[in-house]
Amino acid sequence: MSDLPTTMWAGVIHRHGGPEVLSYEEVARPEPGPGEALLRVRATSLNRLDLWARSGPPVKIFPWTEPDFPIISGSDCAGEVAAVGEGVTNVRPGDRVVLYPSLFCGVCDYCRRGEQTQCLHYHIFGEHTPGAMAEYAVAPALNLLPIPEWLPFAQVGAMPVAFTTAWRMLMTAAELRAGQSVLVLGVGGSVGTAALRIAKNTGATVFAAASTAEKRQLAEEHGATATVDHTAGPFSEWILEQTGGLGVDVVVDALGATWQESIRSLARGGCLVVCGATAGNRPDFDIREVYQRHRRILGAPMGNWNDFTSVMRLAFRGELSPIIDSTFALADLANAHRRAESRNSFGKVVITV
Ligand SMILES: [Zn+2]
Repeated sequence: MSDLPTTMWAGVIHRHGGPEVLSYEEVARPEPGPGEALLRVRATSLNRLDLWARSGPPVKIFPWTEPDFPIISGSDCAGEVAAVGEGVTNVRPGDRVVLYPSLFCGVCDYCRRGEQTQCLHYHIFGEHTPGAMAEYAVAPALNLLPIPEWLPFAQVGAMPVAFTTAWRMLMTAAELRAGQSVLVLGVGGSVGTAALRIAKNTGATVFAAASTAEKRQLAEEHGATATVDHTAGPFSEWILEQTGGLGVDVVVDALGATWQESIRSLARGGCLVVCGATAGNRPDFDIREVYQRHRRILGAPMGNWNDFTSVMRLAFRGELSPIIDSTFALADLANAHRRAESRNSFGKVVITV
């Protein structure tokens, strides 16, 4: 590691606030410990986690602990292995890799079952550890997956969090199959655009909801059969019209406040999958509308290693790619946050390093 610089440039958060609190500055480069790899970050992207790391989360979940500043966020990471710590055998310096961002113990019952995101000691790279908004980052070597030569880092770096979550919700939790129908709420967001891509790739019919005409048009250009403004009224009536009165097999809802309408949009036996509550976490709905029609509600904050590798391998075969809204250099991180927070972005805001 002697030929590597001892410092690096990073996008650092010193306190909660608006995009102006982001500081692009030189900090010490991390060193990989046993079992870890030092990554030369080439691309990362913004997720809700990055915006909350900077602004403070909208809801402090019990039990709450304040973060230790300074923070370097960034849970998505694609780059090259720069060095490896003691005992690492699965990757070598120079390897092009993408990181599975879930950090887990590997020995609890949940991990042994293959459910790393249910680990008793679960935490997230870039949320609970320094992340990829920097030239270098350290992560467990076993979390690295090699990526093919031809695939640009910016494409891969836009995928891990959003696509693993969307895959988990649609394919593993809701068991989506070709010929079924899906309603994606908040289609312009990271997970929404990933869900649109995955559902289309699976051969499902996709209906989408977004609050602006521009986003609805983009969703249709990317394959949505029809779109609706979910803020304009009860969208379940619209979905019933679209589906001959049956409803959809799956609703992807990261908004939360929309649950009553989401549940009413489901066919009998349909599945509401949930990965967030960005518009409100106290929905008002009738439990009878769930069990009387054999409907299910399933949650997923991220996916396990199998979900991650399943969706990444489709990208490695050229069958799946992220919808990229815009690309910023790390030095311009504040403007990237502004773009991601604007109502206009559609898809991933990528950061190249
Ligand atoms: Zn575990």
